[in-house]
Amino acid sequence: MCAVNPLKLKACLLVEGIDAGPEALAGVGTRFKEQNHGLFGWDMVNHKSLDMPDDFVLSDGTVVQFRYNPSSSFRLETSGDGLYVSYLGEQIDDARLIPRPQFYDRLTSDGNPMRKIAQIGGEDCFFVCYQNYCSHFGRGEQCNFCNLVPTKKTYDAVLSRKEIHEIGETAAAAFSEGMCKHILLTGGCFSHEREVEVVCDIVGVIREALEVDTVPGTILPSATLQEDDIRRYRDAGIGAIGYSMEIWDEAYYRAICPGKARVTSHDDFLKAIGKAVQIFGPGRVYGVFVMGLEPRTTFLEGVRELAARGANVVPFVWSPNPGSRLEGHRAPTAEWYMETILEAGEIFARCDVPRGDENHCYRCDGNSMLHDILRNIEGTLPEKATEMTQAPAT
Ligand code: SF4
Repeated sequence: MCAVNPLKLKACLLVEGIDAGPEALAGVGTRFKEQNHGLFGWDMVNHKSLDMPDDFVLSDGTVVQFRYNPSSSFRLETSGDGLYVSYLGEQIDDARLIPRPQFYDRLTSDGNPMRKIAQIGGEDCFFVCYQNYCSHFGRGEQCNFCNLVPTKKTYDAVLSRKEIHEIGETAAAAFSEGMCKHILLTGGCFSHEREVEVVCDIVGVIREALEVDTVPGTILPSATLQEDDIRRYRDAGIGAIGYSMEIWDEAYYRAICPGKARVTSHDDFLKAIGKAVQIFGPGRVYGVFVMGLEPRTTFLEGVRELAARGANVVPFVWSPNPGSRLEGHRAPTAEWYMETILEAGEIFARCDVPRGDENHCYRCDGNSMLHDILRNIEGTLPEKATEMTQAPAT
């Protein structure tokens, strides 16, 4: 039983990070799912020689990304009954680690470990980054919050480029275990035509492996204004598409994402999202944001604008992670995240954009809070929302 509001606890854990002793980490990498650094590193410090959990689950089912911080006042600890989260030594909620997928120990037909091809996000999301590289780093124009290239250098945990047939084999193995419900597909910079082809081929091979017409999940390619390309993505057989806008406010966007803003403007993103909603349908398009690097007002303006266009939003809670330009900075407070995400939740709970849980759900990742708040407040506004903000903090 959680002694505090689970959503508030999640905000605290994402902002402050968490420590864990050897007893709590026993079985990570064998019985329980470990981090494999398939994309970014989200911990407050690197831990190259130590297996850490990817994420864990609170008593009410809320999935929380594990962000290692040996200085945190929060700790994962063990008792006779299992795991729990403590704050300054006091037990505040039960927790459990997520079982390690069996395919993590299997090899592809080319002899590569499948965990170097794809990983499980949260409890049910088959995650593939088809290319762990981004040319913005080469020009010193990377997004200020991003540590893609440093993470690859530090851990070298995944293959930089994955062969399409290996992705298909890995998807077949992963889904046959019964754990996966959705996919999430992302990648670095490509020539545009090549990216459309690669993404469509990957979706095709996963569709064949799953023997379905439409793969439940989301692709996150570069934004395109070409309607033909968006149709090609849809016709390849994927449930939803998303574009990583990162920051809503134009001036902040240009300052925080210099390389990306040079290639894709704020207006281009908006047009691309509008076209994608027309082709995929309302609720089947996502704007992906990094939350905590711009004022609350502009972030919420973005949420309102996208909701008005029929799109959903995935806002990741920013971590000032190692290797990024903002390493050593501090994120806003947990209260800031709680209050801001609550307003975002109210916007979506009151509008008629379909939730899209068939393509991305609260069990898919532990670093966004919007899907948690929506599953809690929907249908009970505004009383429930008020109750959630007033629940005691740690
Ligand atoms: S576009 Fe930005 S966030 Fe994406 S990989 Fe490149 S630097 Fe990182």
